[in-house]
Amino acid sequence: MQNPNEVTEVNPVLTLWDEYGAILSFAVFGVGVGIVLYHFLRLTMTKELKSRYDYISKYEINTLWNACLLVIIALGLFVNTLLAEAELHWFIVRLFVTAMLGLIIGVVVSNILKFYYPFYVEKRLKKLRYTPRISPKTGKPMKLLSEEEEDVYLDEGMQAEEEVFSVDYDVWIDEETGYTKIEKYSGHLHALQCPECNYQTLKVSREEIIESPTASKEGELMKFYTCTYCGYKAKKSFKIAKLKETGPVQSEKPVVS
Ligand SMILES: [Zn+2]
Repeated sequence: MQNPNEVTEVNPVLTLWDEYGAILSFAVFGVGVGIVLYHFLRLTMTKELKSRYDYISKYEINTLWNACLLVIIALGLFVNTLLAEAELHWFIVRLFVTAMLGLIIGVVVSNILKFYYPFYVEKRLKKLRYTPRISPKTGKPMKLLSEEEEDVYLDEGMQAEEEVFSVDYDVWIDEETGYTKIEKYSGHLHALQCPECNYQTLKVSREEIIESPTASKEGELMKFYTCTYCGYKAKKSFKIAKLKETGPVQSEKPVVS
């Protein structure tokens, strides 16, 4: 809205802004909110617990970050439409100040999503992972096998993977019919609690095979952890099971790390 008493000549950019600025801010806001709605709608429609687990751990924090970014931009744009500015340079100054404020809010939101929100995500993921699976054969809850029990159900490749890489297999069994359901969880996506700062931000940064296993000797694997919050570093050594003598040895070549 231009004020007729004050101005004789209005910059065309400002006219355009007065006309379309608010619409633009609403559109950006709408996209931001839409992204969040879509995410949670998809989540409610995903019935399978493992799929829901994967969807949350893969997308939720990024989705929320994108949405927050759009909402912050939308609010910034909207604030700049509230008062009509007569001169372009003041308009630009105001826009710049808004952008700086937006940046500060963005940093705060980003930190919340990076360091506090994961606790909430973790709680939900844990619940999804350990909620008893329902057997399609009997409709009854199945039993989760312990690490020792489950080896019988995992093939050699899976067992090796579980020892070497940051992979976890969960084996659910229907004790009545013997039906099993195996679920794979990737440790790389998953952060541990850092002993230094207590945030859920300790991740495997590198894995190195110190010693390859042979038929007669166990190997050794070193996992390196880095905290993305405080920079704390740790390493932990893992044993790699001896190679089975039967069957063809699949990887003869030395592992280069
Ligand atoms: Zn830390």
